[in-house]
Amino acid sequence: MQADSSPFKARQARLQALLEERRLPALVVTKPANIFYLTNFRGSAGVAVVGPPKPVLWVDPRYTVQARGSAEGVQVREEKGRLLEAVARWLTSKRLRRVGYEDSHLTCRGLRELKETGDGRLRFRPSSGLIEDLRSVKDIDEISRIREAGHLTAAVLGEVIGKIRPGVRESEVVAEIEYRMRRRGAEGPAFETIVASGPRAALPHARASAKPLARSELVILDLGAILAGYRADMTRTIYVGEPSRCVRRLYDAVLEGQACAIEALRDGVRAMDVDAAARKALRRRGLARHFTHSTGHGVGLEIHEGPRLGRGEKTRLKSGCVVTAEPGIYLEGFGGIRIEDTVLVGSEGPEILTPAPKDLTFIS
Ligand code: ZN
Ligand code: ZN
Repeated sequence: MQADSSPFKARQARLQALLEERRLPALVVTKPANIFYLTNFRGSAGVAVVGPPKPVLWVDPRYTVQARGSAEGVQVREEKGRLLEAVARWLTSKRLRRVGYEDSHLTCRGLRELKETGDGRLRFRPSSGLIEDLRSVKDIDEISRIREAGHLTAAVLGEVIGKIRPGVRESEVVAEIEYRMRRRGAEGPAFETIVASGPRAALPHARASAKPLARSELVILDLGAILAGYRADMTRTIYVGEPSRCVRRLYDAVLEGQACAIEALRDGVRAMDVDAAARKALRRRGLARHFTHSTGHGVGLEIHEGPRLGRGEKTRLKSGCVVTAEPGIYLEGFGGIRIEDTVLVGSEGPEILTPAPKDLTFIS
């Protein structure tokens, strides 16, 4: 493979090699995150075809100027009619016979359009996951973007913790977080920010409500910024009031579980072994049954992407993978504790991309 200063051309070349390996002459790419990954075009609509000789990107007239200005390594074609029909006509004119498509994204109607417009000899093969596989190992450009998003998120959390008081509503804390993200240059939150207090913290994916924070409650803050297209994800749990010995003990158990997961994040480790490391630490304290989700997930252009750090996941992590480490325990009626960082699996060991203190913070 030739060295190229454009990360997009390098990614196209990697995909091209993967397609050759699979004996697939071309791939129709419809998922916007994948089009952005391959071409630097970030519109909400567009279809790319990767295959020899040069990738082509079809856009409608709303996006022509943007695509010609931003897309790298592709030929941009404007299409006033239906994009997929134009794609099928082009594939037919190139006499292609076997073409992959993203079956986890393209709609049934989209596939029908491709089939009905192409001549009968054009066959479409479900080929989801090829680009996602490439995306699971980040290049230098992506790592620096996620690092920036992570540091921004950590800085926002540091500012907001100082504003938390009993009586402040969960939704106000969310507003404060998202306002500060944008003030610092983020495009917005990478997902719906979670602030869950008291018994609501026992719901791992609680939405922020109008509930005011009260004394003697745990508060879970799960936040992440999106910057230059890339996302970060982090969680801290704080306590309003003076934590009891029991709360401290539970907190330390989760913290230890997270430390064990992070320690396990090495080049070559199986995803399931990272999950097992966190789970084992919680089992030692008799808390494994309260840890009800997997230990982590990949982060990048999407908030949840590969690899998943869960039971039975045999995928081996590589240097360049960016994943979360987020064990948590949830006790119905009482509350929950989760500690999460976005972590780079590096050749020199794990690097935390969302650096912020992890001692049990309490607000009086
Ligand atoms: Zn999170
Ligand atoms: Zn997460």
